[in-house]
Amino acid sequence: MVSENVVRLANMATPQATSVAVCEDHGEYQVTETQIMGHTFRTPCPECKRLRAEADRVQEVERQRHELAWKLGDALIPKRFKDRNFDSYTASTGAQKKVLAKCRQYVEEFEPNLEAGRCVILVGNPGAGKTHLGIAIAQAVMATSTHTAAYRTLGAILHAIRATFDGSSGQTEGSILDALIKPTLLVLDEVGASKETPSEFELSRLFAIINGRYEKMLPTIVISNLGVKELPAAMGERSADRLREGGVIVLPFTWESQRGKEGF
Ligand SMILES: [Zn+2]
Repeated sequence: MVSENVVRLANMATPQATSVAVCEDHGEYQVTETQIMGHTFRTPCPECKRLRAEADRVQEVERQRHELAWKLGDALIPKRFKDRNFDSYTASTGAQKKVLAKCRQYVEEFEPNLEAGRCVILVGNPGAGKTHLGIAIAQAVMATSTHTAAYRTLGAILHAIRATFDGSSGQTEGSILDALIKPTLLVLDEVGASKETPSEFELSRLFAIINGRYEKMLPTIVISNLGVKELPAAMGERSADRLREGGVIVLPFTWESQRGKEGF
């Protein structure tokens, strides 16, 4: 019986003695000494213990993020986008400020959003800052939690999958799709970019990613230059249905492009 063993172990420990010790860094602290089978166990400085646990935790998060980046074949957030964050996003109009606030709120409420598997759709005009805010969400989630978040374009994913077909890429289609289902949050850009009718190849891989994440209750952020009404047909109704579960947040970027205002 487990409970009997616990009682027996407790009985082997001699009555606890307390004393005061001094940590060089944190000063005096209470030490509890416990004798178990001839060994003396002394509790360490609680502040040192806390700092060590915190350092271990940070190291473990770094390790997990590195491992995931390795599986994805590139950094979680590609290097060129590292400076895209909430602070570097310029919101001048009311509509821009509202969208920015909604994106920040999604991060602030990330735990309940994760619990619900709540996805986000960023749609609208090219150059309106959708990629910027999608990446900003991913970076903010990683900065404020132990979660992993990755950004990829659908085009790059499909290209990587096609490259596995002649067996020379060192990856398999399965390993690529598997890695995309692992991050706590995936930002999937350029969905429905082709404008023409999407191919069965495109639709089936997109569904594999979105459905794989749906089954694990992991949220996806979908970014598209299409209008919100055009998107379901362009991404496939099955995929759109998966996004709707958990109460998707749709953020329309209705303003004109912010790019090239200084001229090319
Ligand atoms: Zn200490």
